[in-house]
Amino acid sequence: MLTNDKLAEWDRESFFHPSTHLAQFARGEAAQRIVTGGEGVFIQDRDGTRLLDGFAGLYCVNVGYGRKEIAEAIADQARQLSYYHAYAGHGSEASITLAKMVMDRAPKGMARVYFGLGGSDANETNIKLVWYYNNILGRPEKKKIISRWRGYHGSGLMTGSLTGLELFHKKFDLPLAQVIHTEAPYYYRRPQLDMSEADFVAYCVEQLEALIAREGADTIAAFIGEPVLGTGGIVPPPDGYWPAIQKVLDRHDILLISDEVVTGFGRLGTMFGSDHYGMRPDLITSAKGLTSAYAPLSASIVGQRMWDVLMQGTDENGVIGHGWTYSAHPIGAAAGIANLKLIDELGLVKNAGETGNYFWQTMREALGDHPNVGEVRGEGMLCAVELVADKEKRQFFDAAEGKGAKVVAAMLKRGVIARAMPQGDILGFAPPLCLSRAEADQIVSVTKDSVAEVLG
Ligand code: PMP
Repeated sequence: MLTNDKLAEWDRESFFHPSTHLAQFARGEAAQRIVTGGEGVFIQDRDGTRLLDGFAGLYCVNVGYGRKEIAEAIADQARQLSYYHAYAGHGSEASITLAKMVMDRAPKGMARVYFGLGGSDANETNIKLVWYYNNILGRPEKKKIISRWRGYHGSGLMTGSLTGLELFHKKFDLPLAQVIHTEAPYYYRRPQLDMSEADFVAYCVEQLEALIAREGADTIAAFIGEPVLGTGGIVPPPDGYWPAIQKVLDRHDILLISDEVVTGFGRLGTMFGSDHYGMRPDLITSAKGLTSAYAPLSASIVGQRMWDVLMQGTDENGVIGHGWTYSAHPIGAAAGIANLKLIDELGLVKNAGETGNYFWQTMREALGDHPNVGEVRGEGMLCAVELVADKEKRQFFDAAEGKGAKVVAAMLKRGVIARAMPQGDILGFAPPLCLSRAEADQIVSVTKDSVAEVLG
């Protein structure tokens, strides 16, 4: 049996961890945790520490850990048919069944689902489909994609470009030229404090209109956005934002891609965030909640008006030149079927709405009056606590002080995982959708004590 020390040494010497301070990790100065198991909303590590996972891994283990139904579905599928590809009309019972289940749950107006592996590749697929669409329609110059500052859409070449966070651009020669960014619907960080929510929505619309005028609508193909900004700070949009944006896009014949990698399959208390906010997307990106991360799988859901053009495209040009070896992998599909069944049986979409709203509202009651808490916000099973140096003047802490990270570390000592969001001192929460009220109370009480420890 390997000792913990040996495993930790192999880890430092062999493993290139994503989103990690590589040098500190190699020197043994950075956090290192070897996770061995999970049950419900808890994970366990090799040192025997049990932690309440207030971020569901990376907002993905929506049904919670240790679900035997999904494990068994995966094992059965692996025994029966571990793999066959989906090219040229091939498939498996699992991938076809899951396609039907996804389409039964998708918002109105969607026509087909393409399966990949994760959120980044699903967004790459969606951007390629947008370009294909405009080429078939004979407007090859209509190709730019508008994304928002603080949006998160992945960390590939294109998707890292769409992501509007400095960390993902700096030192990687990104963003690529076809990507342009506009204002994030982040009311708390509005440019002038005296703007009402309605003023701020009007401001976001003006910024978008100005960008479109500057670039030319005939050069812009699509707008991509998360219904609720996720990694950029967990920020629900102000009232009326999506209908106002949708109007601008319709007027300029710009497609809408709703990136529902976080919000898809229940997190906001509705099956999709597009339903929640009345968006009318042409493409939906989803991943995480589709399998609750029991196996990697993503879904690009294609709307009818795009689908009609894609069909026309293949009539004119033959087979569509897009596909991954692991598209619609049967093991991912089997996990997806078992996961979606479990979400229905346990009523988890409803629980995300009810317990989720209870969770962030309880957090607001407990922390809203703290002098260093600028705002507590949430929607469904998503919550953020924004820390500030001066609440009246809305002055932020110097990033170098790492206040958010310090609170997260203090929470960890008390047995709860939260996430210090990458840009700003923002504590992020996205627990499994099966969270109970007692567990919600535990997260809130640990957050309160930890904020008090670090900030007084
Ligand atoms: N889009 C959104 C909204 C996401 O939150 C993420 C991942 N956090 C992605 C895309 C990328 O997904 P993946 O990491 O699976 O490639």
